[in-house]
Amino acid sequence: MRRPTEHMGPFEAVNHFFQHAAEIARLSDSTVSVLSGTYRELRVQVPVRHDDGRMQVVYGYRVQHNGARGPYKGGIRFHPEADLEEVRALASLMTWKTALVDVPFGGAKGGVQVDTRGMSEGELERMTRRYTDQIGHILGATRDIPAPDMNTDAQTMSWMLDQYGRKYGHTNQIVTGKPIALGGSQGREEATGRGAVIIADAALADRNGSAEGATMAIQGFGNVGSWAARIARDRGYRIVAISDEFGGIHAEQGLDLGEVRAHVAESGSVVDCPGTEPIGNDDLLRLDVDVLMPAAIGGVITHENASEIRADIIVEAANHPVTPLADEELYEAGVTVVPDILANAGGVTVSYFEWVQNNQEMHWDHDDVVHQLERKLTTAYESCRDYQQRHEGISKRQAAYALAVDRVVEAAALRGYL
Ligand code: GLU
Repeated sequence: MRRPTEHMGPFEAVNHFFQHAAEIARLSDSTVSVLSGTYRELRVQVPVRHDDGRMQVVYGYRVQHNGARGPYKGGIRFHPEADLEEVRALASLMTWKTALVDVPFGGAKGGVQVDTRGMSEGELERMTRRYTDQIGHILGATRDIPAPDMNTDAQTMSWMLDQYGRKYGHTNQIVTGKPIALGGSQGREEATGRGAVIIADAALADRNGSAEGATMAIQGFGNVGSWAARIARDRGYRIVAISDEFGGIHAEQGLDLGEVRAHVAESGSVVDCPGTEPIGNDDLLRLDVDVLMPAAIGGVITHENASEIRADIIVEAANHPVTPLADEELYEAGVTVVPDILANAGGVTVSYFEWVQNNQEMHWDHDDVVHQLERKLTTAYESCRDYQQRHEGISKRQAAYALAVDRVVEAAALRGYL
C-alpha cells in the first residue's frame, strides 16, 4: 500500500482509504476506476438577493458518487470550504457510510460555497430556494434525497421540500431531516450525535472501559457536537472540554452543560463561559482524555499533531477529521480511531427511518427510533470488529471500508455495472 502524503486533497484522501480496501478485495482496475470516480457532478450558479438589494453570486454543487445500492443520499452544507473537491469527498463518504450501516441508499452530497454568518433568514431562504430550483431536476424520492449538514437544518429542508413541491408536486420523501410537522422523524435532529456516543460506548467497552466517569473532549458545538455532549453526559461521561470556531472551554471536573448552553444562547459562542478555563482548538485535541470527538470540520488531526494526541479513542463525528498519514501514525501509536463512516452514520440511519416512515405514512415513537438506531450501529460496529479480528494488522477504518466496498461492489456487479 502506498504511504499517504500529507498534502492529499479530501477526495484523494477518501480514495486512499478506498484503494486499500480495493487491494484487500482484489478489485479489477476497471472496478477501481468506477468506484474512485463520481457518477454525476452538477455545479450551479446561485445568485442571492440580499436584504439591502445587493446581489451576491455564489456557487452550489450536488455530486452523486454511486447509486448501486439505491437512491443517492446525503446532506447539503453551506460553508466557505464546500468546493467541488470537498463535496466529492463527502459524496463518496456517503456511499461507504450507507453501505456500512446497510441502508439501501447510494452516496451524494451537496454544498453551497458561502459564508452564512451574518445572513438574514430571508437571504438564507432565497438562497436555498434558488439552489433547490437549480438542482431539482436530478433529485427525486427514488433518485436523490438531500438532508441537513453543516449550517443547514430542518428549516432549510422545509424550504427545499416546498420549493421542490411547487414544480414537481408535493413529495414528502424528497428530503429527510424535516421538522416533525412536515413528516420528519422523532430523533432525527439528535441522531448523528447520538450515534457517535453509541459508537464511543462500544469502542470503550472494547478497551475494557465504560461510559461511567469516562472523560470526553468535543471539538465543535454545532448540531452534532452539542447533541453528542448532552447524550454523552446523560450516559455518565465527564465532558471536560468543548470548542467552537471561536475557541474552547475546559473544566477538569466536568463542564456544566446547562450553563454552557445558556452562555451560547446569549453570546453565540462557548468562549468565556463562566466557571471554565479557556483552551484553544489545537490544545483541546491534545488533551489526555478517554474519548476525543472531533465534531467540526475535516483535516484537523494531521501529521503535525498526531504524535501529540493523548486520547485512547478518537470518534470521528465530523467527516474526514483525520488525514490518511495521521491515521497511520495513530494506528501505530495504538490509538483507536473509529472512522467517520461508522461514527457519524447515525444521521443517515435515522434519515432512512424517516424515509421509510414517509413511504408507509407511519410514525414511529422516539423510543423505537433510538432502539432501531442502536441496533443498526451496534451491528455495523460489531461487523467491523469481527472483520478486524479475522484480518490481523488492519485498523477499524480499513475494516469498515472493506465491508462497505464489498457491499457496493456486489450490488454494482449484480446490476451489470462492473
Ligand atoms: N449530513 C449527514 C451525513 O453527512 C446526514 C446525511 C443524510 O441524512 O442523508 O451523514
